[in-house]
Amino acid sequence: MKSATHPTYYPKAKVICACGHTFTTGSTVPELHVEICSACHPFFTGKQKLVDTAGRVERFKKRASRRQEVTKKKLERHTAAAKSSK
Ligand SMILES: [Zn+2]
Repeated sequence: MKSATHPTYYPKAKVICACGHTFTTGSTVPELHVEICSACHPFFTGKQKLVDTAGRVERFKKRASRRQEVTKKKLERHTAAAKSSK
C-alpha cells in the first residue's frame, strides 16, 4: 500500500446538523456540517413539513377562497334572476 495516496482518515468525525443534532462518523474531514439529518428529516420523524417557498401555499389558499366567493356570488345572481323572471 502506498502511503502518500491515502487521505487522513478521521474515525470520529463530528457531524453537525442545522437542527442542532450532532453525531460522529468516519470521514476524511474532521468536521461535517449538514442541513438535514435523521433526527429532523420528515421521513424519520413521520411529520409532514411543508417547505413554503415564497408564500406559495399562502397564495394557493387565497386563490381558492376567492374562487369560492365568486361561485357563491354567481349562484346568488342566478337565483335572483330566476325569481324576477317569474
Ligand atoms: Zn437535523
